[in-house]
Amino acid sequence: MGRLFLVEFDQTPEVHFYCCRTCQAHIVLAQHCFSRMEQLREGFFTNVVNVVVDERTRMEGFSQVEDIHCVRCNKPLGWRYIPAQPNGTVLLKLAHLLFWDGARLLNADTLLDPVVDQENQEDHDQENQEDQGNQGEEDEDDQGPDDNVDID
Ligand SMILES: [Zn+2]
Repeated sequence: MGRLFLVEFDQTPEVHFYCCRTCQAHIVLAQHCFSRMEQLREGFFTNVVNVVVDERTRMEGFSQVEDIHCVRCNKPLGWRYIPAQPNGTVLLKLAHLLFWDGARLLNADTLLDPVVDQENQEDHDQENQEDQGNQGEEDEDDQGPDDNVDID
């Protein structure tokens, strides 16, 4: 019932922020990320918007947590710890987010262009297997037609 009003950041070169990878709802400004754990692909954030928090708690490792979902598409994005951390700190999974770097939306965990999604990546891996012998000789001009690839 009723319209869902989402907080939206200015999508300008000066403003950097994270958004939901699934529906691109804006989630948190980059300035409110105070710790990125690159290997775990997680980050600690404050001032998160457009999320809902699960009422039921669960255990994550040795910690009690409440899961956080995107308010628009309901995808799980991370969790908050119980008891609540100072300043409403939450943990977000970078693999579930995109990052607006002022010009483009990038995968938040790799900061690379999200052109290749995971399904296509597997296909590419198979195509590239025969290329493994000549690594370093990759040439843009070699990208021939892929018509002979059977993907059905
Ligand atoms: Zn979403």
